[in-house]
Amino acid sequence: MKSNRLAGHTLRNEGRVYDLRGQRACCGPAFCSCGAQSDDVMHTVSARQRWHREHKAAVKAASASR
Ligand SMILES: [Zn+2]
Repeated sequence: MKSNRLAGHTLRNEGRVYDLRGQRACCGPAFCSCGAQSDDVMHTVSARQRWHREHKAAVKAASASR
């Protein structure tokens, strides 16, 4: 089975967003552990997970073309 994990790239809090008081927030940008951040504020966990999947695919494509 092919793993979709990419070393150094994990989605912070699995795509959940917390405000400064540690409360679950419904919307916010997605963050990757590598420091990448989505350009857009997203309103659902699944949107942030989708962003992260595409982010990892872009990283893989960039490293494969070297
Ligand atoms: Zn990343």
